[in-house]
Amino acid sequence: MIEDKNQQRTPLSDLGEFGLIDHLTKNFKIKQSSTVKSIGDDAAVLDFKKNKIVVTTDFLVEGVHFDLSYMPLKHLGYKAVIVNLSDVYAMNANATQVTVSIAVSNRFPLEALEELYAGIETAARIYNIDVIGGDTTSSMSGLLISVTAIGEVEADNEVYRSGAKVNDLLVVSGDLGGAYMGLQVLEREKEVYKVNPNNQPDLEPYTYIVERQLKPEARKDIVKLLKDLDVKPTAMIDISDGLSSEIIHICKQSNVGCDLYENKIPLDPQVISTCEEFNVDSTTIALNGGEDYELLFTINQKDYPKIKANPSLTVIGYIREKEAGMHLVTRADTKIALKAQGWKNFND
Ligand code: ADP
Ligand code: MG
Repeated sequence: MIEDKNQQRTPLSDLGEFGLIDHLTKNFKIKQSSTVKSIGDDAAVLDFKKNKIVVTTDFLVEGVHFDLSYMPLKHLGYKAVIVNLSDVYAMNANATQVTVSIAVSNRFPLEALEELYAGIETAARIYNIDVIGGDTTSSMSGLLISVTAIGEVEADNEVYRSGAKVNDLLVVSGDLGGAYMGLQVLEREKEVYKVNPNNQPDLEPYTYIVERQLKPEARKDIVKLLKDLDVKPTAMIDISDGLSSEIIHICKQSNVGCDLYENKIPLDPQVISTCEEFNVDSTTIALNGGEDYELLFTINQKDYPKIKANPSLTVIGYIREKEAGMHLVTRADTKIALKAQGWKNFND
């Protein structure tokens, strides 16, 4: 469905490994004062002075985590960085550097990797981080990308999943379910295209949710906002797997329970209309969809006045004693136990 507009196809073997690395990384500029030595030596050197360091890594595998038939390589490069930055922000830290390792089969020409790196470079520019190294190797089939992100946080400002306390408020940024519904739309268009390649997809009614899938953003702005508001979350996690499983992570690690209110879950109108079109329940999608990369956190009730007027933040529930369990309070005011996956009984 995405046409290969690059007519030129330079085989990777024309450059050799070192030529390739040089070529792909020549545009990277150093922005962080903590980067002492970047690409070009046996290892990068960083200096964080007194701050604590957070490190996180993620693997993206073709056919498992992405499908190049509808994921442009530039978007893939962007997303590979974003998903890692999201984990750094979920620690209440500021992302500063990434390393990018790729394994690539010879079916990819140089021009394809240039696209991938254009996306990586864009993310690095927008989020003000340095690409300080990586590794490049061949793969027998397909493309693998592993990104490691590094961030810094002032001593004692880091936020774990384990700090939620009884009566804390459960808060989420942005809205949920968009990335998953965007994927459903893209999968459907791919099937249509397979049957009739002349059929050009009309994605116009789905621009927001398709963008949520193809070009996710990490909530760096929320970490800054909370700092500006002088609110330190008691626990925090990013929503990569779906609201339900992330809430369960916080509750289990904090040894608490919770009530989550169905009617408070923030949904974009495009998510609601697409759920109707696909005949799926929007709450189920928000709970289990994943890949929204919003932040989910808990705050002490005394901080509620500081956040309540903010359109980017929604209070969706509160923390209870462990014995109370973890529940969704439905619009009909019934309680359903939260599950990490499989909301089979929910529509019955
Ligand atoms: P080594 O043999 O020591 O592993 P490499 O030749 O693999 O060194 O890498 C040379 C330099 O280029 C190192 O600084 C490394 O971090 C960087 N580098 C290698 N591959 C990539 C990549 N795909 N993206 C960014 N930097 C890379
Ligand atoms: Mg190497």
